[in-house]
Amino acid sequence: MTLKAILLTKANDQFAAQVRELSDEDLRANTPEANVTVAVEYSTVNYKDALALANKGPVVRKWPMVAGIDAAGTVLDSTDARFAPGDKVVLDGWGVGEQHWGGLAQRARFKADWLVPLPAGLSARQAMAIGTAGYTAMLCCLALREQGVQPGDGEILVTGASGGVGSIAISILAGWGYRVVASTGRATEAAYLTALGASAVIDRAELAAPGKPLQKERWAGVVDAVGSHTLANACAQTRYGGTVTACGLAQGMDFASTVAPFILRGVRLIGVDSVLCPLPRRLSAWQRLAADLDRSKLDAATTEIVLAQAIDVAPALLAGRVRGRVVVNVNA
Ligand code: NDP
Repeated sequence: MTLKAILLTKANDQFAAQVRELSDEDLRANTPEANVTVAVEYSTVNYKDALALANKGPVVRKWPMVAGIDAAGTVLDSTDARFAPGDKVVLDGWGVGEQHWGGLAQRARFKADWLVPLPAGLSARQAMAIGTAGYTAMLCCLALREQGVQPGDGEILVTGASGGVGSIAISILAGWGYRVVASTGRATEAAYLTALGASAVIDRAELAAPGKPLQKERWAGVVDAVGSHTLANACAQTRYGGTVTACGLAQGMDFASTVAPFILRGVRLIGVDSVLCPLPRRLSAWQRLAADLDRSKLDAATTEIVLAQAIDVAPALLAGRVRGRVVVNVNA
């Protein structure tokens, strides 16, 4: 049996990303740690996938690599008692697509420890429309709630608003009754962001340059997918006792701030990681997504492509030209 997959290769510093026909023997030989085989239905292109597919960042740790940090599909075989053939599962992170062969393929092999049962009420396609970006957005939103940020406390800033994390975060927070302010570089997406639930849209240029350590207090909470000066300004504008969640680096990995917001206003800065997030927290994030995420908003944020198009979409995504989420039908 053969399967189609996006294989990333590097030899003598020559990088290639191609759809290739692989054998099940290839798959087994390159996934010795795995104990569950999954017939993948959908995968997705996250920011990290785009970095790997375009060879733009040190994402891939082992060559050759099947790309794709996410997958959703049906178990074909399992030597682990927790999963049986026919079970629907979701995989996000754990170094898949980085150091373990990934989900942009028709079949994939994973460790049972990494798998989440597909929550009732979500299809494989919807799970991948959410993907790592959407599940990370939920981790950020849950963190705001856990830190005590209430809808009546004031506005929530979402940066990188038109992207994957931003789009899903706006939908979740608006659904929970928060007043959301979307920061975007794309004025043309204002109607889209408002339809997702943003009460107001601001130009990301307002946050992008170096600013004062303490600025006028505005935000009760922040979901930041951007990092760099944007994150520093978001902290400097957060109200007394407010919470900033940091998950991304679309503007940059740097963070030139001062301790002033933290020691003078009691602002809390919460880091959010999806890759190694422990299973119980993943399960609760996925349950909340299944229960709370408005499906029509998810559809509005989703574009579907086929396997080979994932390679082409990567540069556009890195350039900030892709709206919302991209799902990949690996069998089309
Ligand atoms: P997307 O590419 O879908 O969205 C990123 C958005 O950031 C863009 O759409 C754009 O939004 C904005 N943006 C792009 N370039 C810049 C820039 N130079 N300055 C300011 N804003 C910019 O990516 P995702 O939403 O999937 O991911 C966002 C970030 O979160 C990435 O850095 C990613 O690596 C990170 N991430 C981290 C995870 C974790 O576990 N911590 C998990 C998932 C993602 P607009 O046009 O609206 O301004």
